[in-house]
Amino acid sequence: MRIGEAEAIVGTLGRPSKMPGYSTSTSATECKLGSLLRKVRGSVCEGCYAMGANYQYPSVKIAHARRLDGLRNPEWVDAMVTLIGRRVDPTDPYFRWHDSGDLQGVWHLANICEVARQTPDVRHWLPTREKAMVKSFLRAGGVIPGNLTVRLSAPMVDGAAPKASGPLATSTVSSDGVTIGYGCPAQEQGNSCGDCRACWSRDIENVTYRKH
Ligand code: SF4
Repeated sequence: MRIGEAEAIVGTLGRPSKMPGYSTSTSATECKLGSLLRKVRGSVCEGCYAMGANYQYPSVKIAHARRLDGLRNPEWVDAMVTLIGRRVDPTDPYFRWHDSGDLQGVWHLANICEVARQTPDVRHWLPTREKAMVKSFLRAGGVIPGNLTVRLSAPMVDGAAPKASGPLATSTVSSDGVTIGYGCPAQEQGNSCGDCRACWSRDIENVTYRKH
């Protein structure tokens, strides 16, 4: 598949300035659990950054809509494998799923796992609030490949990490500087990951982000 054909199916990849490499995203308005959590005081989704002005430009909305439409395309896996294979820097091979938006269903997670399986030299990180979808996937016998870190996000600021076992990792958000596990250093390094790749590592059981 050519790059142009792949982009016609799944849209273009994004390049978050904070992080290494490429990402893909959908609109935060399509988050299933997140859309409910946004109305909950003290939740990590209240005041969601991905609902802010930068995400309201027509070009961003069009890109999000195209990516959402593409998710159900039977060639979605091939198209994502093509783009990740061609775009990701082999000397720093990291890919982030969903810098905005979230899983749309168990089928979506199964497809992401297949993309990771077909790009074994790339480290993938999927942050998600959709714990129930992930658990359903695993209960049904789904396997998360070793190069994909699925990190379950705590729903509440200053809340406990979600219960996770097996291949799953977690993240929490702190407003008071209390760190559970590994503290994200981005704020001390110009809001950038720099050399840190902790989020992509399953060995880091929990990452604590500071509330913006
Ligand atoms: S913990 Fe490291 S990899 Fe994760 S967001 Fe913070 S700086 Fe980036």
